[in-house]
Amino acid sequence: MLQEESPWYVRFRHEELDLVTTTRKNGNMLYGATGSCLDTTAVAGNYRRLGEASGIALERMVRVLLEHGDKILEADGSSGGEGVLPDRQNLKGFDGLITGERGLYLGITTADCFPVVIQDRRKGLLGIVHCGWRGIALRLEAQLFRRMVALGCRPENMRVIYGPGICPDCYVQSDALLKRVFQDDLECPRAVIPRGGGYYGIDLQRASRENLRRAGFPGEILDAGICNSCDPRFFSVRREGSETGRMVTLAALWNGADPAPDPGERALPPWAE
Ligand SMILES: [Zn+2]
Repeated sequence: MLQEESPWYVRFRHEELDLVTTTRKNGNMLYGATGSCLDTTAVAGNYRRLGEASGIALERMVRVLLEHGDKILEADGSSGGEGVLPDRQNLKGFDGLITGERGLYLGITTADCFPVVIQDRRKGLLGIVHCGWRGIALRLEAQLFRRMVALGCRPENMRVIYGPGICPDCYVQSDALLKRVFQDDLECPRAVIPRGGGYYGIDLQRASRENLRRAGFPGEILDAGICNSCDPRFFSVRREGSETGRMVTLAALWNGADPAPDPGERALPPWAE
């Protein structure tokens, strides 16, 4: 596993997989958000800078406009630039993407939720979903897994990758609804960590992994190991409020041709299970 750090993004590579998450320094990546994020020109400029710095063409990025639902879009190159170029904001109502097209970067924005990527190593299929508590309550990662199996992927050839998302030390709640969702609806009491005084930490990734295990996913799980709320390089709604910016995470399978101009990679310890 290699990690490239640039001022504008962190990048993870593993075999064919290329995963990029932007930093706060690259600015807000969500068009039409509230408060300080309304400036379309600024967001378009942020995508242009990301394209230049990462070597990924904007026309090869596809981003869906999230709705906290469970619809997953099958995308190909004809959707290139959607959600990325300011005049192409049409993919409404989806919280995930799937493609069999190599070199097409599937994107979602987050600022505490997890980007969850599933790759089939044999079939060359790739999916990404947006998993905050609502997505996990809808078992969205498990739905992506089942969808890929229905498209011919074999569970033993699949790998799951968790991008940057919030850790249970940062995601502290006193909301009874959330406690009930994780303890009772999802039957994952270990995702609820008592903190005293009526507060508890929610371990989103643990609950998401449990969803996948119960759906029959047997295999390998990689974790970027970054909490965007602990790490000040990233935006966090929890830390900064809902009007803060959003990062974009982009994932693609590539053909071995290195898309990065100058990776400057360094070896990291193997990703934790
Ligand atoms: Zn944290």
